[in-house]
Amino acid sequence: MTISYTIQQYDTIDSTNLEARRLIQQGFGHGTVVVAETQTAGKGRLGRAWESAKGSGIWFSVILEPAISLQQMSQYSFVIAVAVAEGIRQTTGLESWVKWPNDVLIRGKKVCGILLELVTERNQPVRLIAGIGINASQQMADFPEDVQAKATSLAMETGCEINRQAVLDAVLQRIDANSTRMEQEGFAAIRDVWTALSCVTGKEVQVVRQGKAVLCGTAVGLAEDGSLLVETANGVEQIMAGDVSLRAADGGYAP
Ligand code: ADP
Repeated sequence: MTISYTIQQYDTIDSTNLEARRLIQQGFGHGTVVVAETQTAGKGRLGRAWESAKGSGIWFSVILEPAISLQQMSQYSFVIAVAVAEGIRQTTGLESWVKWPNDVLIRGKKVCGILLELVTERNQPVRLIAGIGINASQQMADFPEDVQAKATSLAMETGCEINRQAVLDAVLQRIDANSTRMEQEGFAAIRDVWTALSCVTGKEVQVVRQGKAVLCGTAVGLAEDGSLLVETANGVEQIMAGDVSLRAADGGYAP
């Protein structure tokens, strides 16, 4: 079923995910979108901070109540990542790629971070908050120093001014389309698109966990549970957690 979106626009908010959570308590549900010009406490995974300077990005969270099982919810991060990559491609023509587990990259640099949170309450449908931060108009010097080496923005990649509303609309439209596919055709359909859009598919990767290299092999796709499939000398391994880096021409591994 088509999602009808309701946009809640803010100038400044702590975090669009936190606001989405508060809106759920107030009765807001499926299709509510929280958009902010700036976040004062933008969140990444594992409590990491997400830099969300004023007016320079597309900082938003979408509340969804997908008609899928709790178990399938973890597969939703791929629905979202694919939607972001597709929306960026459609509106800017840039080759954006997904990276396991839930980044979106352009030329190997992070243009978008995704943070999914579940809200489960008794007698309520399971709600999912998809937090999405897309770097739009920043130039290199606008990023904090520690982020500069690994971040990029749509403006840096296109050399043009970015119509943030057009990108937001396209991503929301793709979330709608991919959610419908997920419900009707199952995860396999999304998995195929994700694998085609993954920058590591068919390439040699190294998996690092807690700073230690645990595995090397060729990334071949996704398992049903969303783990990354890596073909090694000992067969195909399923990676549930860790960071994946691509083997570079010099034999080292680039993040
Ligand atoms: P990862 O999964 O790569 O660790 P997260 O999705 O958790 O990343 O995002 C947080 C991390 O992303 C931060 O630790 C920081 O290094 C980086 N970061 C923060 N803000 C931005 C931004 N606007 N653009 C790109 N990277 C960022």
